[in-house]
Amino acid sequence: MATSPILRSIAVFSGSNYGFNPEYIEGARALGREIAKRGLRLVYGGTDKGLMGVMADTVLAEGGEVVGIITRLLFDLGHLHTGLTQYEVTPDMRSRKTRMSESADAFIALPGGLGTFEELFEVATLTQLGEHHKGLACLNIGGFFDPVRSLLNHAVKEGFMKTEHSEMLIFNTDPAALINALERWQAPTVSKWIGSAPDASN
Ligand code: AMP
Repeated sequence: MATSPILRSIAVFSGSNYGFNPEYIEGARALGREIAKRGLRLVYGGTDKGLMGVMADTVLAEGGEVVGIITRLLFDLGHLHTGLTQYEVTPDMRSRKTRMSESADAFIALPGGLGTFEELFEVATLTQLGEHHKGLACLNIGGFFDPVRSLLNHAVKEGFMKTEHSEMLIFNTDPAALINALERWQAPTVSKWIGSAPDASN
């Protein structure tokens, strides 16, 4: 039986843009406040841009600890947030994702674009395969992640995913409820693979 992890560090994946709806900025701030209030360490991409910067600013302003893990390319472009508690520069995006994943006990996605989706799905894939056992959650500000939930349900309906794996992702609009759910989260114990090939002869 899998046990729930003790949360000390949370990696947050999030847009390097702000999004058009001001609710996204307010949601990023609310998550930052909750992380700081609980004394959790924030691990993130290390930039001052977009929702990433908003969230890091909030955690720092509330006296929290923020670790940035940034790529050499983005560092050289001057994207590093200058007020971080600590930062690391990695050679490339792949090593950066590995470091973020190693440094966190659980993951939260805020609204974002391709970078955010890619990071979220990579850590979900590692949990699904059992390479790590770390909870994942989407702060569903303004219903932003509803299409992701629909896509997962579609993959289950079409026989590419088990329900247990689609349900391992937590969706919630409230940061406190989301982190509470991550504290209770348990890794699915079912294997990834589903039955045998259907009959394709007719
Ligand atoms: P996106 O959702 O496409 O804006 O990409 C955001 C994700 O990609 C973040 O979680 C970061 O890990 C990474 N990323 C994209 N742009 C930057 C940036 N300027 N500085 C640091 N990380 C970035």
